[in-house]
Amino acid sequence: MDEIVVLKFGGSSVADNEKLKIVANKIKKFYNDSKKIVVVVSAQGKTTDRLIEEAKSLTKLPNERELDVLLSTGEQVSISKLSILLNDMKIPAISLTGWQAGIFTNNINQNAIIEDIDTSRILKELKEGKVVIIAGFQGVNSMSDITTLGRGGSDTTAVAIAAKLKCKICYIFSDVDGVYSTDPRQVKQAKKLDNISYDEMIDIANEGAKVLHPRCVELGQKYCIPIVAKSTFIENEGTIIHDKLEETAVKNIVKNDNIIYVNARYKNGSDYLFNEMYKTFISYGLDVKNLINSSETNFEISFTINKQNLDKLERLLKEKFNFIEYSFTEISRISIIGNGVTKDNLILRNVMNIIENNKLNILSMEINETKIAIMFKSSVSNTVLQDIHNALIK
Ligand code: ASP
Ligand code: MG
Repeated sequence: MDEIVVLKFGGSSVADNEKLKIVANKIKKFYNDSKKIVVVVSAQGKTTDRLIEEAKSLTKLPNERELDVLLSTGEQVSISKLSILLNDMKIPAISLTGWQAGIFTNNINQNAIIEDIDTSRILKELKEGKVVIIAGFQGVNSMSDITTLGRGGSDTTAVAIAAKLKCKICYIFSDVDGVYSTDPRQVKQAKKLDNISYDEMIDIANEGAKVLHPRCVELGQKYCIPIVAKSTFIENEGTIIHDKLEETAVKNIVKNDNIIYVNARYKNGSDYLFNEMYKTFISYGLDVKNLINSSETNFEISFTINKQNLDKLERLLKEKFNFIEYSFTEISRISIIGNGVTKDNLILRNVMNIIENNKLNILSMEINETKIAIMFKSSVSNTVLQDIHNALIK
């Protein structure tokens, strides 16, 4: 069989009919190059946000199985529309939902992991000369119930399929023309990177930059699939994410404002209470991070949580630990990423000067070979991000 190429198009690339036509023409070019094409698409524009809002307007905490049934509809709309367009352009195409495409996941609703892909249906359609258009972000669990992979998960669908089909490359098309040295919407001096290593990209994605889904980069690394992040609308090179030999430089600065710092206190209590609480967090699948137990005679712990899980956390605390006193603070975390960031003292000195000049208070610092991550005691403005970026990336 000819070489198979996976093309993934994000929500903003398929937002309306005009954009869908641009995407269809792009697919046509690859098709005319006599390639076998698998396309993965996200829901149109802000559809997923809207569906979540709609569910939350019914109840604060929607049933998780049913929420996945609802959220997965967004991608189903995109695949069918794109396939209608392609067929109308006389390009044979077929749309497949996650289960039709053989995407099997575990049972964790809204954050499911792809366990395997049975590619037989995809291969059959490719063999018949069709462009196969697959709904990203969704799969089925062992009970044949629909699951979703977590926000931004279509990227992971695309790379997982590319890995299973042993593709040489996976293209991720979006409205930005690659990976930048920081968020270009917040810092106008941000520079586009020609290439970046899997490790650096995993750090960037995990620190909360919404460029690529972290799990898609991990999959790319595991199965050696180079990932190319490119623009749907502008013709240029994009950024290639692949294996790289050693290099020392700051590659990227991420500011994450999506973090809630939680402090919990109780007049007596002990390490026993800490263990109880933490076990409960685990069983509820809460993404508790930076956990510190500073209890002595009094119980006191602190941790951080993603803003979107705050409702869930508040409900759990009310139901199980309502005798404890809490405070919730919105904070920012700035991460400086690149191989060898700590090998050059000047980097940390520069950053500390900027923090002092802006009169910011540090909550904690995490320093390792590829990353300096600083959490602040409050939210931090974009000017600080800009100052740090411009001092470290020339
Ligand atoms: N539509 C889903 C989301 O908005 C998945 C994706 O876009 O990758 O999170
Ligand atoms: Mg995305």
